[in-house]
Amino acid sequence: MHELSLLGGVTDIVSKAVEPSTVVRDVGLVVGARSGVLVDALFAAWPVAKQGTCCAGASLHVTEVAATVWCPACEGEQEIDEYFALTCPECGTPTADLRRGKEFHVDYVDVETD
Ligand SMILES: [Zn+2]
Repeated sequence: MHELSLLGGVTDIVSKAVEPSTVVRDVGLVVGARSGVLVDALFAAWPVAKQGTCCAGASLHVTEVAATVWCPACEGEQEIDEYFALTCPECGTPTADLRRGKEFHVDYVDVETD
């Protein structure tokens, strides 16, 4: 599963960012609508992906980013849904200038402090 290997990368990043003894409580990801990542699949894979890692006790949080294209005719950034071709939803002008929506990265890591 694609998402499982992505999450393996995430737990690697987190484990490098925290001390070995740190208890990670929350991991936040940013996922773009055009990143090819299925958010439901991320949540489904998380319990498996985190096993035996520093994130074993952590909850997963996802911030979804809508995809946008730059429309030269409207001279503005327009939001497209994940099924739209790369055309402006306002005027139909074709544009391959994707400005947002391909994100997939770690947003934040919350650790237990005492
Ligand atoms: Zn337009």
